[in-house]
Amino acid sequence: MSDEKTPRQPVSGIKGTHDILPPDSAVWQKLEQAVRDIFELYGYREIRTPVFEATELFEKGTGQTSDIVTKEMYTFTDKGGRSVTLRPEYTPSVARAIIEHRLYLEPRPLRYYFVGPMFRYDRPQKGRYRQFHQIDAEVFGETDAAIDAELVEMADRLFRRIDVGETEIVINSVGDRNCRPAYLLDLRAAAEAVAPSLCPDCQRKAAANPLRIFDCKVEACRELAKSFPEITGYLCAECADHFHRLRAHLDADGIRYRVEPRLVRGIDYYTRTTFEMTTTKLGAQNAILGGGRYDDLMKDFGGPDMPAIGFAIGVERLLSVASLKAESRPFVYLAYLGDEAKIRAVELARSLRQGGVECLLEFKERGLRNQLARASKLGAAWVLIAGEEEVRKGRFQVKDMRSGLQREAAREELAAIFGRSDS
Ligand code: AMP
Repeated sequence: MSDEKTPRQPVSGIKGTHDILPPDSAVWQKLEQAVRDIFELYGYREIRTPVFEATELFEKGTGQTSDIVTKEMYTFTDKGGRSVTLRPEYTPSVARAIIEHRLYLEPRPLRYYFVGPMFRYDRPQKGRYRQFHQIDAEVFGETDAAIDAELVEMADRLFRRIDVGETEIVINSVGDRNCRPAYLLDLRAAAEAVAPSLCPDCQRKAAANPLRIFDCKVEACRELAKSFPEITGYLCAECADHFHRLRAHLDADGIRYRVEPRLVRGIDYYTRTTFEMTTTKLGAQNAILGGGRYDDLMKDFGGPDMPAIGFAIGVERLLSVASLKAESRPFVYLAYLGDEAKIRAVELARSLRQGGVECLLEFKERGLRNQLARASKLGAAWVLIAGEEEVRKGRFQVKDMRSGLQREAAREELAAIFGRSDS
């Protein structure tokens, strides 16, 4: 009894998550459709993996020293005592699936894409969520720099399709396991020399993984990092050649880009190419795409030697700059009067829907005037009036809500009327 009387507190959504409501959900659908259309033209196929994985997958894949693993993972112990993590990024899951299902035995290269939620326990702020969404593309089994350029082109094509406005493409090479160690030695020496002036986080990074200092947002660290050695001068012949060929392909494709030697990206597994796309329309969180090559990841996961490259686009940020509108489809509001007409209206709605006409029928007793007002409020393109008289005669009144004109039509004419005005 007392429960009945206590006012119920509504439960709110979790901080850092958000609902995608209509009509916005239609914009999401439109974006997802554009992704499917474009990526499939390039030979990519959708791959769906579970939302959670064994924690060690990300520790091993994303890397022990990455910000994602050190600070941002949503990790739980399940009832079986296993440590599981809500995926913070998609690449480790795809690599795991390829190895587990031996997809590498299929004709190469393997090209996959996915659109879905990722989870990072970060401080929520504008453009940073705890559950956000990414568009992900991955290619496994392709070494040539032409594929690096093609990925950039594919993302660029998507951005143009949904009209994101001005973007900047930034590229770099972070070398590989041959040439990076020498660079890291010099970088670590430079970082340690100025360590007392770095933020506490970067002081730790100076010893553990000095490359991460380039990701720091603290102004003092950014200033100091400008004096650090650049990787470009350390690249081995193979990495330098790969980078040179990537640039040549981008030039040939007419894609404008900027080389940024400090673009190292926040994940440990990158080798050679890294790239980012930023927009001039956003403030601090201006990166809408991040990507790069990870030629050693499959080997490190115990799989075959299979070079790979991919990117991830942040959907929330992308949509905040895209000019993507949801067009509402014209629909029919079916107004009926009386019980007999109601039964016939249900039947009529069914046959109209079968013919592909969107049709709304509400089950509330209302007078005709109220139903018309309701149809107008909901934005119906037409009102189809089924009074008892109309139902008996098999002829209906159709009101075009845009022109305000009303006409009588036989049942057989309806699909054509709604179909015709639709076009
Ligand atoms: P990353 O996997 O960190 O390279 O991120 C790729 C893209 O995902 C970024 O460029 C952002 O657009 C987006 N992104 C990353 N983290 C978040 C977040 N916490 N909230 C919203 N978008 C994010």
